Amino acid sequence: MSHSAKVNQVILIIFDNVRAEHLLGLMKEGKLPNIAQIAENGIKCANCITSYPAITFPCYGNIVTGSYSGYYPKEGNAVPLYHWLNRKDPPATSKKPPFIRNYGDRSQVLKINKDIGKNVKTIFEQAPEGNLLSSLCYLYRGAFFVVPEHASDVESIIKNISDAFENPGKYYSNKEVPLISVGYTYHTDDLVHEKGFEDPEYINLIIEFDKYIGSLMNTLKKTGYYDSTAIGLISDHGNFKAKKVVDLESFFQKKGLIPYNPEKGTGDFDCNFGSVGFFNFPGDSWQHHPSIRQMQNFKVSGLQKQEVNLFNILCEIPEVKYMYYRDDNNKPDNGIIHIEYLEKDSKKKRYGMIEYRGFGRDQQTKYTFEGSDFYQYNDNEKSAKILDNKFHTLEEWLEATNHIDFPIIVDQIPRYFKNPRSCDIIISTLGDYGFNYEHGVTQNASPYGHDIGLRECMIVPFIIGGSPEIPQVELEYCKTTDMVPTLLELLGIKPHSSVIGKSILN
Ligand SMILES: [Zn+2]
Repeated sequence: MSHSAKVNQVILIIFDNVRAEHLLGLMKEGKLPNIAQIAENGIKCANCITSYPAITFPCYGNIVTGSYSGYYPKEGNAVPLYHWLNRKDPPATSKKPPFIRNYGDRSQVLKINKDIGKNVKTIFEQAPEGNLLSSLCYLYRGAFFVVPEHASDVESIIKNISDAFENPGKYYSNKEVPLISVGYTYHTDDLVHEKGFEDPEYINLIIEFDKYIGSLMNTLKKTGYYDSTAIGLISDHGNFKAKKVVDLESFFQKKGLIPYNPEKGTGDFDCNFGSVGFFNFPGDSWQHHPSIRQMQNFKVSGLQKQEVNLFNILCEIPEVKYMYYRDDNNKPDNGIIHIEYLEKDSKKKRYGMIEYRGFGRDQQTKYTFEGSDFYQYNDNEKSAKILDNKFHTLEEWLEATNHIDFPIIVDQIPRYFKNPRSCDIIISTLGDYGFNYEHGVTQNASPYGHDIGLRECMIVPFIIGGSPEIPQVELEYCKTTDMVPTLLELLGIKPHSSVIGKSILN
């Protein structure tokens, strides 16, 4: 145990797709007594801000690394999204058309360990020594990855961690209990997409989850490790219900836009689109990102190479409110992301931009706009102050926008677009319409999603407790990337330099 350590072990459990307000609401009703016990005697925050877009990857990967997307040859965790197009590696000279990465495909999900950047480290890789356990935490680089006997059930995933404390010899030849354990339960996410966040089955699963946490606590008490262990609980994002779900397949057909075929390298566009749409188009080839001009004068293969303006076409998708795209002259450490904002009734376009400079923790961004601001920051005294035409750090955006919609979005959008694996145009309907469109196919008609910048998606619970050494604090706000550096500090370990979050103990 390092002299600065407060605990000897940490356990982090990431439960997918649970809003802070929902978890805390159930806690107040007395339905989650075990999680409440951890929270009441430790650190809790009902206003923890996740990354934008609020999608499992990047959000879950950002928790495990404590960093964000970025220009991954130099910094950042390289995985921009659940679905992405591999434009630059193999390098643009390669003759092979870029593949589509889709972590929703179970045969691809473990590739996250290879995809994630060399410049960042998972929580496991940040430990100088000790036993490390991943209980179905797909991003396990550096750890012993255990697939529980019943991978499809939350109980097994948490029970595995209990097991490692009861019978460490089963997992490790030195027979020592794990220094860092991370469990990940995706089941809550599946239920939201299938049935919704109001559904009793979803709520009951959270209540059951609390019971399994209770058994884990009992095992730790029984084996004498409870007082020396910190238990961290966090979610990757919240959720929303769209007002309407629309099938976009015929829209693209009418426009002559043919979906990209990664085997042949043919087609006009690739897209995945919940309520936020991520569009890729070919530039000089599919290996290259297009310039703005190429997207304004785009030859559509389904219309005998007729030239169209893609920016205008995408604005015809119903309920589109925001559009983002990068400037042609962007460099990894300075550049511009253009914003187009469509007025709700007049459909009049207003332009704005986010300028960025610097990397990682030192990144600064400046947000300017035509007319009134697009995020209603002006409606609030604290957030209005940051609209001062100056560059600001992530911490400054967090301080100014944590309490309203679109928290830290100005910091997050450039981090996404800096990544060479990012798309070319983002559009958002802000949760009004959902499309569930993936690579040419409308997947389902579920109105439940998560990707937008509103609070219902962006605010998650943040809890650390267990050991009496953990201070009793209620935080006004924090961010998901603060979890790993806080747990590492409790262990007396200095986080890797790539970690952008910071320990909330300081
Ligand atoms: Zn998720």
